[in-house]
Amino acid sequence: MEKIIEVEGLKKSYGAVEAVRGVDFYVDAGTLFAYLGPNGAGKSTSIDIICTLLKPDAGKVLVDSHLLGREDDKIRSVIGVVFQDSVLDGLLSVRENLMMRGSLYGLSGEKLKRAVEAAAKAAETEDFLERPYGKLSGGQRRRADIARALVNTPKILFLDEPTTGLDPQTRQSVWETVRRLQKESGMTVFLTTHYMEEAAGADYVAVIDDGLIAAKGTPAQLREQYSSDHLRLVPRDAEALAQALNKEGYTYETEGGVFSLTVKRTLDALPVLKRCEELISGFEVLSGSMEDAFIGITGKEMRN
Ligand code: ADP
Repeated sequence: MEKIIEVEGLKKSYGAVEAVRGVDFYVDAGTLFAYLGPNGAGKSTSIDIICTLLKPDAGKVLVDSHLLGREDDKIRSVIGVVFQDSVLDGLLSVRENLMMRGSLYGLSGEKLKRAVEAAAKAAETEDFLERPYGKLSGGQRRRADIARALVNTPKILFLDEPTTGLDPQTRQSVWETVRRLQKESGMTVFLTTHYMEEAAGADYVAVIDDGLIAAKGTPAQLREQYSSDHLRLVPRDAEALAQALNKEGYTYETEGGVFSLTVKRTLDALPVLKRCEELISGFEVLSGSMEDAFIGITGKEMRN
């Protein structure tokens, strides 16, 4: 597959704060890439550098084969960026905002009109296209922001925490729009997020923690490598089950009468089940989640 973004040895400090400390990764063209990390990990700093908004201290970045620092105009012409804070004019309608954006890219007449309409449709903003941006709901604003970033039909769409601050339902629907857009257009999407559900739906995930890449892989690979499964046992006789588990040296927790054991892989549940078959009335094995994987990788809960 073609690598559309390549980052090598990227570093950036703000005075004494080493925000990004030597980051390497690449993004395959046409995929949805999630750059996942807790607050302060260095996500925005990285994305700002790749989008030509901030100068790195060290490292090499190629975007669509254009070298950052030497061909920044070319990079800008192939990307669309949705920032955390909106840059649209609250007094103008969504359509007017999009028209203005398109003219900045040198579009005019029919071409401009068509570009605006395509972007508005892709981001599902058609229902409120004539309304002032300042009067829109949070979710509608996000969609308008995304439409703005699409006016120049970019090859890569960058989204810095696109759903932060939205209620769960709106977050879900904006996320679905991004996913659909990416699938239908084959565009590359580079997304930073601290929401595990979003990272779980990406094609590939890089986890950044404290300015360094802590893990990379598909969501399935990260779950497999960094999370554990949970075996839950419903006892027939709780005391006897506790005794049997203690005797075998298994550690467990109990909650609401259910015994819960951590097993590295699903198959590791089998010997435990064989040992206590007579003592249980039921069981289930729960696979590890991205949340578990994240804790396994960083040793932290994401939201802290
Ligand atoms: P994230 O996007 O993952 O939350 P950032 O890239 O915004 O992380 O920040 C990484 C680190 O750099 C944090 O410690 C943050 O406080 C610091 N930082 C970010 N921007 C600046 C800045 N303009 N000046 C000083 N420190 C900054």
